Amino acid sequence: MPPAKASPQAAIPSVDRVLGLAGLADAIAAHGRPLVTDAVRAALADLRRRLADKKTGEPAAEAAIIADVLARLEALKRPPLTRVLNLSGTIIHTNLGRALLPAAAAQAMVAAATSAVDLEYDLGSGRRGDRDSRLEGWLCRLTGAPAATVVNNNAAAVLLVLDSLARRKQVPVSRGELIEIGGSFRLPDIMARSHCKLVEVGTTNRTHLGDFEAALGPRTGLVMKVHTSNYVVEGFTAAVAEADLAKLCRAHGIPFVVDLGSGTLVDLARYGLPHEPTPAEALAAGADLVTFSGDKLLGGPQAGIIVGRADLVAKLKKNPLKRALRIDKISTAALGAVLPLYADPERLPEQLPALGFMIRAQADIEAQARRLAPRLETALEKIGVSVAPCLSQIGSGALPDKALPSCALVLKPDAGSGQALARLAARFRGLALPVIGRIQDGALWFDLRCLDDEEGFSTGLAELATGAAKK
Ligand SMILES: *Cc1c(COP(=O)(O)O)cnc(C)c1O
Repeated sequence: MPPAKASPQAAIPSVDRVLGLAGLADAIAAHGRPLVTDAVRAALADLRRRLADKKTGEPAAEAAIIADVLARLEALKRPPLTRVLNLSGTIIHTNLGRALLPAAAAQAMVAAATSAVDLEYDLGSGRRGDRDSRLEGWLCRLTGAPAATVVNNNAAAVLLVLDSLARRKQVPVSRGELIEIGGSFRLPDIMARSHCKLVEVGTTNRTHLGDFEAALGPRTGLVMKVHTSNYVVEGFTAAVAEADLAKLCRAHGIPFVVDLGSGTLVDLARYGLPHEPTPAEALAAGADLVTFSGDKLLGGPQAGIIVGRADLVAKLKKNPLKRALRIDKISTAALGAVLPLYADPERLPEQLPALGFMIRAQADIEAQARRLAPRLETALEKIGVSVAPCLSQIGSGALPDKALPSCALVLKPDAGSGQALARLAARFRGLALPVIGRIQDGALWFDLRCLDDEEGFSTGLAELATGAAKK
């Protein structure tokens, strides 16, 4: 009788046996035994599952197990964020981390992170200090506001304002401004969280001053105007001017709050860009408080900035929620390095990467595209490469209807199918320095406006070429 065939499961080595293999000695020295043990357990469990599911009939060579364990360790040790090249055509891309910080801000962050700092300590008196105080000076100077405070992001800023000034009260908002931004920030939801009663005013396309006047009453907490930052209502439209709304609110003794979303601290028109409303303008029009993000057009770290009337800002600072929503020392350091740059608007485009990208001339971008196109052609087989004009978006809700003329490398697989295109995009995403483009009109578009690392891009092309040769 032939001997009974041992089950493949029985051939799986024990955890201890694998840990004792010479091939894992370096890994144990580098990562410690507990982490390697976890990886071995996971690898063996996976192998057992695959054998049970008949996905593999082989018992598993030890070398293959070791390779699997090492791959798992590498994945475990990978940092949570991977650097990418943003060739999506959206300059301030929320999913890609929004504004790039100037070097000075990055240095300030490292300094604050690696040392004790006087975050809430007054060096003069030796007593507890105010974390916002130094940012407040700059924010007041740059916006003309009498007072300012800073929290973790603009969603937090809106939440804090609503909770501090309109808890259990009514907040009239124009129907045309009930925004959702990226699925996570819905004004009606934030209102509900702050126990405010949203009062929808007017219609989606038209809201008049009289609509607001009719909505005001003894239970009104504040009136909010939201900058419709990621869409445009076009056609037969009417919105109430900030100055008129401010006057109405003042007459009724009700705070008027403007959520600007993407607040820029200079008039972008001076750089030949489309005008975007500034906090200073909203305050000049009579807003009592203005909220905006730190990492959109401002070009700073993630933060929510609130500027305006001193008595209202004092109320915000007294709210216990402020403690939960406060900005951390590292972002404080970064914002503190970015704000002073606005004192010299002439030099700002050299200092703020996002602004530098915004003002990049189409001719310059096109020259770069023509330089890179032949290299792409060499690296890729069966892919048509061309250079074509395109439009960049500023992104993060700013200037949604105002695109910037740019230039792109356009990649079209000969196979022409959607699958071939998706595979091509995935190959670029799989590079050591992933390249993110956008798929449009049956092609993969790389808008080069934000390509500040041509060498990194070229290295990726070489990587693609050798990858293709292997296949
Ligand atoms: C972006 C935006 C927000 C949210 O700001 P975060 O900084 O992302 O929290 C709120 N309101 C408006 C109008 C916005 O554009």
